[in-house]
Amino acid sequence: MPSELPVTRAALPPLDEYVDEIRGLWGTQWITNMGERHEELERALESYLGVSHVSLFVNGHSALECALDALELSGEVITTPLTFASTVHAIVRRGLTPVLADVRPDDCTIDPEAIEAAITPRTSAIVPVHVYGNLCDVDAIADIARRHGLRVVYDAAHAFGVERGGVSAASCGDVSMLSFHATKVFNTIEGGALCYGDAAFGERVRLLRDFGIRDSEHVDLVGGNAKMNEFCAAMGLCNLRHVDGEISARGAAAARYRERLEGVSGLTLIAPRPGVRPNHGYFPVFFEDSFGASRDEVFSALERRHILCRKYFYPLVSDYACYRGRYSSADTPVARDRAARVLTLPLYGALSRDDVDRVCDAVLGCRG
Ligand SMILES: *Cc1c(COP(=O)(O)O)cnc(C)c1O
Repeated sequence: MPSELPVTRAALPPLDEYVDEIRGLWGTQWITNMGERHEELERALESYLGVSHVSLFVNGHSALECALDALELSGEVITTPLTFASTVHAIVRRGLTPVLADVRPDDCTIDPEAIEAAITPRTSAIVPVHVYGNLCDVDAIADIARRHGLRVVYDAAHAFGVERGGVSAASCGDVSMLSFHATKVFNTIEGGALCYGDAAFGERVRLLRDFGIRDSEHVDLVGGNAKMNEFCAAMGLCNLRHVDGEISARGAAAARYRERLEGVSGLTLIAPRPGVRPNHGYFPVFFEDSFGASRDEVFSALERRHILCRKYFYPLVSDYACYRGRYSSADTPVARDRAARVLTLPLYGALSRDDVDRVCDAVLGCRG
């Protein structure tokens, strides 16, 4: 029986390296609450990502909720339905109203014209998603935000290490959220971060992350608990030393996918953008009618061959049971179409050229 190919595999450092990184914890017994590794990882990420401030979190979702909280937003927030549950849930859980705008067909990021059309007097912010690591039209979004006095909070969960012209994706908007979940390009087991330029905003973020506690006798804000512990920070310090290797290994696999699948009739790939350094987090493929087999047929055929893909993102958030009656996916026809056609193929650093060929043979074997 052929081995099973998962859609992704968490990057782990050599065990000895991790053990060395956590060994000191048995001396200090300081295992959470902004310990040494936590502080070291924040500074290391500021330098790696080229951003002025990084605040670590227990996960990306909590970071996103904290960003919305710290900006003291109200009313409506514009985002897209072609994303992970977290993006829209964070807006709702902060007591805000998500307004779902359509995406661009070529890269699945939010369409700036759809943002403009969705703005009302109640709009306070935009939460664009760099979906699959594809950079949103950050210049157009910055222009819209300036003209309408809106805040911009990027869901950059997919965009770790992505750069355009040497400028980090994490430096866009008022604040960018990164996820360091096990399935992401860079992981801290579970974890996340906010990246931002405004030091006063950072002060609120740090308070909200830790119950609003300023010091042992002063509590300034009604915060939650979203701190990253030392074991996760240690995993981050180790993985950060290897992340460039992980990205280039993923790049080699992605290049082989392109060689085999580019130009195949009925298959749409997302074209690389000139001047953008990608992180190869995902390899989405869209099955158009002319391919001769539907996305669901390909998904099942690959599953029978022990190749596990993901319908990422399907269904649209607007079709979730918890949002029933509040949205119609007919309002975002491009997102609905892309969600119905997408599969993300297996992609991780340890995926060999033979593995990629096995996936491609299986995909191409489905052609009608
Ligand atoms: C992973 C992810 C999140 C949430 O991150 P967690 O660290 O899992 O909480 C948010 N948005 C998107 C688009 C994601 O893929």
